[in-house]
Amino acid sequence: MNTNDELYKVGLALHGHKCPAMPLGLRAGLAVMDALGVAHAPDGQLTALVEIDKNHCSTCFADGVQVATGCTFGKGNIRSLGYGKFAVTLIDNKTGRSVRVVATPEAMRRSQESEFIQYRKKGVPASQVDPKIGAPLIDQVLAEQVDVLFKVEPIKQAQVPPMPPHAFDTIICADCGEVTVERYARVKDGKRVCIPCADKA
Ligand SMILES: [Zn+2]
Ligand SMILES: [Zn+2]
Repeated sequence: MNTNDELYKVGLALHGHKCPAMPLGLRAGLAVMDALGVAHAPDGQLTALVEIDKNHCSTCFADGVQVATGCTFGKGNIRSLGYGKFAVTLIDNKTGRSVRVVATPEAMRRSQESEFIQYRKKGVPASQVDPKIGAPLIDQVLAEQVDVLFKVEPIKQAQVPPMPPHAFDTIICADCGEVTVERYARVKDGKRVCIPCADKA
């Protein structure tokens, strides 16, 4: 895979800047789908559990996972476990089969020791780092052998929590006038309102 690959271009369009962690997430998503024997999910067939949290290095990993697997924030089938780790578990919701893929210390070391990260540590936003500095690292992540980048764990059976059916009914909040999914409406002074309006003193 290289930067001319359509998947990388889609990832970059979503993500917004050139960095090594989004491509690492792309590769992780492809590796975990391959290990599980599944394809990109057009609907909610798969669930991805990523282990990143917020405000730490390489959280961009999760955007690559979303693009590769089709498990997205909008579909509600990606969740962060908040461990501060660079792994993804993919679950086939129909069968409960799952696989976890975790970035190797070697893959993370290359990124952490790169010139690109030295700029990031100084507080330079990724989009402001000269693209020439990050390019070799991105090329390497995209082209590297799977077993250098990741440890791929054996297939396991996961517990898939039952999903409530999709809600399509909406109401107009009697207070702010905004559209609210009916399941989230509350009754306040005999009127149906949204949660923020219900919580207002
Ligand atoms: Zn990034
Ligand atoms: Zn309201």
